[in-house]
Amino acid sequence: MTASPSPVWHPFTQHALAPEPPVVVRGNGAWLETASGGRILDAISSWWVITHGHCHPRIVAAIAEQAGQLDQVIFAGHTHPAAEALARGLVAMTPEGLDHVFFSDSGSTAVEVALKMAAGYWRHTGEQRTRILALEHGYHGDTIGTMSVGARGVYNAAYEPFLFEVTRLPFPEKGREQATLDALEAACREAPAALLVEPLILGAGGMYIYGPGVLAEMAAICARHGVLFIADEVMTGFGRTGTLFACEQAGVVPDIACYAKGLTGGSLPLAVTLCRSAIFDAHYSTDRARTFFHSSSFTANPIACAAAVANLKIWAEEPVRGRITALGDAQEERLANFRDDRRFANVRRIGTIAALDLVAPDPGYLADVGPRLAAFFRDEGLLIRPLGNTLYVMPPYCTTAEDLDLVYGAIATAADRFGRA
Ligand SMILES: *Cc1c(COP(=O)(O)O)cnc(C)c1O
Repeated sequence: MTASPSPVWHPFTQHALAPEPPVVVRGNGAWLETASGGRILDAISSWWVITHGHCHPRIVAAIAEQAGQLDQVIFAGHTHPAAEALARGLVAMTPEGLDHVFFSDSGSTAVEVALKMAAGYWRHTGEQRTRILALEHGYHGDTIGTMSVGARGVYNAAYEPFLFEVTRLPFPEKGREQATLDALEAACREAPAALLVEPLILGAGGMYIYGPGVLAEMAAICARHGVLFIADEVMTGFGRTGTLFACEQAGVVPDIACYAKGLTGGSLPLAVTLCRSAIFDAHYSTDRARTFFHSSSFTANPIACAAAVANLKIWAEEPVRGRITALGDAQEERLANFRDDRRFANVRRIGTIAALDLVAPDPGYLADVGPRLAAFFRDEGLLIRPLGNTLYVMPPYCTTAEDLDLVYGAIATAADRFGRA
């Protein structure tokens, strides 16, 4: 008997080129296990979501308990203890002033909600402001709205006619921050609705890091012009950049903030968009036309909320911050060996995230070096999925020094094999 080909259509996968995917049957800490008994070190936290490690016992227990009690309930006109506890926990944990919590299911929807909140705010306060400002190289998701505000390229060229216009600011590269601030200042004079940014590091766009100083200045310019400041902390939230939230490092309180990936410790899909009272109040009215018209079937799913409550408890009761500092230091130590290596450029790190660009022999080669590198790492038993020639390591916080040695050993070998001679 021969198995028929799988009907599964995978995300961001060219099926004509992709090798057979491994069948993953188990996860434990930083490691995955395949059906054939192979072990894979999850050096990218399963697409940046797993924070404390796979199948953290407290999260698993919370999911099991909630699943036996209340699986799902309509969230319009109803509530449940897990959502209430989570909302209160988030308001207490996030920067002071973010007082209202709207639930959704993914990072993309959290950003869509943020954009709709901003649009609603201006409409209901009687100002014609709809233009969104965003950073060059930004990534905010793959829905039509979030593709619109993200960088344009091969990933969304086919959908371009569906996308709305935004004003793009140059990335605040080190030494050229003023250009970004000047462009923001100029754009703010045109009375836009909001500035949307990934704080401190632009993820999918290429792991571009910028400083807390310029983040604080961007927020200050927005405040001066009454432009809403939206922080997309979908990736940066829950410890990745070394602090619980990236905005903390700049002392910035956004008007609207989006969290998703690490919210449940990476175990279940759940997202939240938090906002200041002014945004909520603009929608608060006896006029039904001012209702915030957004929902999805699984808004605030109780099982996902219970997983997130367990995550918050882990943050409160386990030495997560210590683990993050140790992981950052361990990454730095190993990264240091590559700083003078001519085969790499832009060796960089923020918190637990390390990145470096492999200098490939010729630009044509560059086009498919990403998939070749991914295949190489897979053969080494490592889950590392480069962004083009940019290698990055974003592991769960339980990753050990020995685990990292495997990762950086393989990166050195990859340079021998694929890098400039
Ligand atoms: C991953 C990501 C998103 C989209 O989140 P999904 O859960 O994949 O929809 C949005 N913004 C940023 C910064 C991200 O890294």
